[in-house]
Amino acid sequence: MAGALSQEPTTDGRLVHSKTPIFYHSQQQVAYAFISVQKIPEFVRQSARLPTAFEPYQESDFWLAHSRNFVSDVLLCKTNNGFGTKDAQINQALHYSNASLWAAAQHVLTHGGVACSASQGFHHAHFDHCYGYCTFNGLVIAAKKALASVDKVLLIDGDAHVGDGTENCLQALNLTRRIINVTRDEIGAHAQRKFAAEDWEAFANTLLKKHKPGLVLYQAGADAWAKDPLGAGYLSLKGLESRDRGIFAATKKAGVPIAWNLAGGYANPMQKTIDIHLQTLRVSDEVWF
Ligand SMILES: [Zn+2]
Repeated sequence: MAGALSQEPTTDGRLVHSKTPIFYHSQQQVAYAFISVQKIPEFVRQSARLPTAFEPYQESDFWLAHSRNFVSDVLLCKTNNGFGTKDAQINQALHYSNASLWAAAQHVLTHGGVACSASQGFHHAHFDHCYGYCTFNGLVIAAKKALASVDKVLLIDGDAHVGDGTENCLQALNLTRRIINVTRDEIGAHAQRKFAAEDWEAFANTLLKKHKPGLVLYQAGADAWAKDPLGAGYLSLKGLESRDRGIFAATKKAGVPIAWNLAGGYANPMQKTIDIHLQTLRVSDEVWF
């Protein structure tokens, strides 16, 4: 299913987007009353653009970041998923939410530019266990798949919490030199609280110059909002906008493709979190199109 509102084929067959394409599959939708699950289809609906669907992951795709026993135990409902449940419907949806990020990454690796994966729930997933609303580490899986076509992948994890699961997977897989994980400790330092877009751009530029990635995966975490109820946030709404604008501007100027996803965000009502994600989408459009 092509996103007819956001992309048009040219006469030479390339896809030309007038807006940031969104990768989302209806099978990601689950009847589970938690914001990180419920906000995703609502974000897509409010984006007012047709999402692009994709093939789901197979069990073997999860082995790229995790031990086979852990993957099997979760999928057979022998052990809890990241929501602390043994829920087959949630587990089935994980095949789609994780594949969403790779679909967006594949798109930008092929066509360049930017793409949005309407997904979250990755960075607390460890090599052989999980917690914190994260089950399987879609960041590590997508980054590892990308290493077939680029030398290095830079993960800019803007969630307000430390991407401990990502770090654990990368160490277990011996990939810390090819997949660079920039997470809360580096991004959420106190100096960044007052950053303008230019400061964020300079910050991202330094990362790009240092690591020379062929792909950036960016988690535009909404729980970095200072008023997020989980209490880890440190940016105003304007600060979040500056963060997104600076990171998109730096990658665009450097010619590095970027796929971003939602991550974090627990504000009540849910609309406050969705508004932050829609702000990221607007900035993504403004910088790239
Ligand atoms: Zn978080």
